[in-house]
Amino acid sequence: MSDASPKRTLTIRYTATKTCPNCDGRGDDGADWRPVACKRCKGRGNLVMDIEIEDSVDGLLPSSDYDFNTLGEVYLLDFDEDEPIEVIRPESF
Ligand SMILES: [Zn+2]
Repeated sequence: MSDASPKRTLTIRYTATKTCPNCDGRGDDGADWRPVACKRCKGRGNLVMDIEIEDSVDGLLPSSDYDFNTLGEVYLLDFDEDEPIEVIRPESF
């Protein structure tokens, strides 16, 4: 373990989610036999409506710096690929 220079981290948080209206939060089609994962939420049961990303260097990022979708997939825009940034993603929502 070296703590000479703390690595820059981006912490993603889901600040607003809602129950998937397509499956009522069940995550699948409710079939007794081999239920099929909901196409809209991919089996999660929830949709991500809003997020925030905290940069260990700059604080909260403006929303123009990232993009996300209701599945909780987050895309960072205009970040230097050469800089080792650790992205901390929420485990679930
Ligand atoms: Zn669903």
